[in-house]
Amino acid sequence: MTDQELLAAQRRLQKQHGVTPPAPASNAAAVAEGMLAMVAAKAEAGAETETEYLDEDTGLLRCRICGGKRQTVITPPFEGAKPRTVRCWCNCPTAQDLAKEKERQIKMETARLVCFQGVEEMRSCTFDKDDGKGDQQLITAARLYAENFKDHLRDGMGLLYYGPVGTGKTFLAACIANAVLAQGYRVRMTNFARVADEIWTADDKAGYIADLCRYDLLMLDDLGAERKSEYMQEMVYKIVNARYVAGAPVIVTTNLTTDELTKTADIGYARTYDRLLEKCLLIKVDGRSRRRAGAADAWGNMRRQLGMEV
Ligand SMILES: [Zn+2]
Repeated sequence: MTDQELLAAQRRLQKQHGVTPPAPASNAAAVAEGMLAMVAAKAEAGAETETEYLDEDTGLLRCRICGGKRQTVITPPFEGAKPRTVRCWCNCPTAQDLAKEKERQIKMETARLVCFQGVEEMRSCTFDKDDGKGDQQLITAARLYAENFKDHLRDGMGLLYYGPVGTGKTFLAACIANAVLAQGYRVRMTNFARVADEIWTADDKAGYIADLCRYDLLMLDDLGAERKSEYMQEMVYKIVNARYVAGAPVIVTTNLTTDELTKTADIGYARTYDRLLEKCLLIKVDGRSRRRAGAADAWGNMRRQLGMEV
């Protein structure tokens, strides 16, 4: 590096760090020392002095929290260079780290509020709340689904929990929602009755549906509990179909039986169920997953991946 290049580098550093430069340098070593001085001054300015103390033995500052070094002595690799005491960082998170973490937490909290809007009671459903009394195979499968969500998002594959009332289907779906949220994905949990009402009052129905497609994962609780009308059938189909077309996974819970899901004579429902059954693994909520006639092999891989009997 020529003296000129060093001077240019010095000016750049000076601009970046906003530190007053040292007296003009006449040789490479002095320029380098000048640069070091600027960086050292910058570090000095960012020092958290209230958490440090002077270590009498070494004459250097240490951290009160972790005991790590906050100062060290370095000698620039030039002939005649003088050793210099400079700031260094201990292992404690810096104010900047803490601010970043705080920002991350706020973002996460906001995402959680959005996710469980209208079903706030689901916010507390997490895998660590599982009391171990339920079917552990189902818990494991739900956990694995959440852990491998990246793959399921790519493939647009979801789950359809079915079974009688009060068997914990919603709990499983909410646990997955929380776990996938925690990975930083956009998740929305709602239910069919609610979306049907919301779409009824929405001025921009297409916009409402497009909005639901912006989430990486959409949980729709209680299929079949929405008001029964042709209009609602149409709206529910539109939502399910929009996710299907977007290749975006849904997790659905329902009290409907497999017969009701697969053999309904009502064409209005049948097309919605067909869409769901094409992209959701059917899971009976007593642990015994059930094969859909004629589609057994297609689901084998996913069932294996979720640790369920094939
Ligand atoms: Zn420390």
